[in-house]
Amino acid sequence: MTQVSIIVPVYNEEESLPELTTWIGRVMNQHRFSYELIFINDGSSDKSWEVIECLAKQNGHIKAIGFSRNYGKSAALDIGFSRASGEVVITMDADLQDSPDEIPLLYDMIKEQGYDIVSGWKKKRHDPFTKTVPSKFFNGVTRLISGIKLHDFNCGLKAYRNKVVKQIHLYGEMHRYIPLIAKWNGFNKIGEKAVEHRARKYGTTKFGIERFVHGFLDLISVSFVNRYRKKPMHFFGALGSISFFGGFLITCWLVFEKIRGIRHGLEVREVTDQPLFFLSLVALVVGVQLFLTGFLAEMMISTSSRKGDYNIDEELNFAH
Ligand code: UDP
Ligand code: MG
Repeated sequence: MTQVSIIVPVYNEEESLPELTTWIGRVMNQHRFSYELIFINDGSSDKSWEVIECLAKQNGHIKAIGFSRNYGKSAALDIGFSRASGEVVITMDADLQDSPDEIPLLYDMIKEQGYDIVSGWKKKRHDPFTKTVPSKFFNGVTRLISGIKLHDFNCGLKAYRNKVVKQIHLYGEMHRYIPLIAKWNGFNKIGEKAVEHRARKYGTTKFGIERFVHGFLDLISVSFVNRYRKKPMHFFGALGSISFFGGFLITCWLVFEKIRGIRHGLEVREVTDQPLFFLSLVALVVGVQLFLTGFLAEMMISTSSRKGDYNIDEELNFAH
């Protein structure tokens, strides 16, 4: 079995790829690892794919997938995870900010020390403060929500036991929260290793502040989905019940008032004209609707299966 799979998402990184390939090859050979290097071209508009094809002709370890357009880093890692065959799976960025020299140590932490995931920690980070400040904030929030004590959730350099990546499905901006998703799937041994981080040598960053915002919204939705994914009835049913029960109480009270009013000589209309009467009707109907929504969701879940939501244009060197 291949020892190491290295997954590299690529979005307009043509200048970095030859250097990265040589560097990875040097480290792998030094440590006599059997390995595969999987490039995922995420709809680059530069010559990244041509460069990958050219490198693959000279280097038999290279495999590659090309998306039909830019789907984002999460989608790129997701397809890489599904294809990786190595015992230990490494993810790293294409831009030479992560150092391949770290791979053997990460490998040992998985193989010898029994970690499920080891996340890189860019202790001395070489990024502008417009990246580091929001990143500190997001790491703090994520630590709080998850209870996982990592300094740097979003480091591109991570190592995984193979069976972990087969359980993880990523979409949106979820690559920022892989340790959380792993924990939700029952992988508790999550470690951290301080890694060298370098300044970007070529090209520019693809992640601005707006992607942090998207990432945060994804975190909220995925926390929610994780909680109620299998049992939407528990969420919608509870809301529906509260609404229905509230409507029912108001109705009872109104009926009681009506009887009392009629006794005191009031007209029935004076009761049904009340805003409260309409509120109770709305609450009853909404309650039933929410209940049915949960019911439908549960029926859909039991009949559907999840598929990757991206299109693949090209593939190189994968045996089918
Ligand atoms: N990337 C990608 N798809 C995207 C954006 C980025 O595959 O839509 C890749 C990019 O080529 C790089 C990695 O994800 O290999 C990290 O991107 P970047 O270096 O721009 O992020 P930063 O280090 O600035 O956080
Ligand atoms: Mg980078």
